[in-house]
Amino acid sequence: MGPDHPRKPGPVTRRPSKHLQAPRPLSSAHAKAELKADGRWIVQSMPGARASKSYRCPGCQAMIPPGTAHIVAWPDTPSLGSQRAVDDRRHWHTACWEHRA
Ligand SMILES: [Zn+2]
Repeated sequence: MGPDHPRKPGPVTRRPSKHLQAPRPLSSAHAKAELKADGRWIVQSMPGARASKSYRCPGCQAMIPPGTAHIVAWPDTPSLGSQRAVDDRRHWHTACWEHRA
C-alpha cells in the first residue's frame, strides 16, 4: 500500500476589516468639515460678537451686517492660484450656507 500523504492545510489568511478606521472629525476649535457639491469645506461659525465687519454673502449677494452671527467657510483644498486655503474664506448667512447643495 502507498504511503499516506496527509494534506497540508494552507494558511488561512484573514485580513482585519478596514471598516474600523472611521475618519476622525476635525478637532480644531469650532471648525468642522462639510462635504458640498463642489468639494470639502471647512466651516466655522462666527458668533455675532466677533463679527465686527460687514461681509457680502456669496449665496444671496446681500451684506451680512456687523454683529450678525454667520458662517465662515473655506475649501479644504486651496483653489488654483491661492497660496493658502484661508485666502478663499467666504462669509455666508447661516441659512444660505445650509441651503447650499
Ligand atoms: Zn445670504
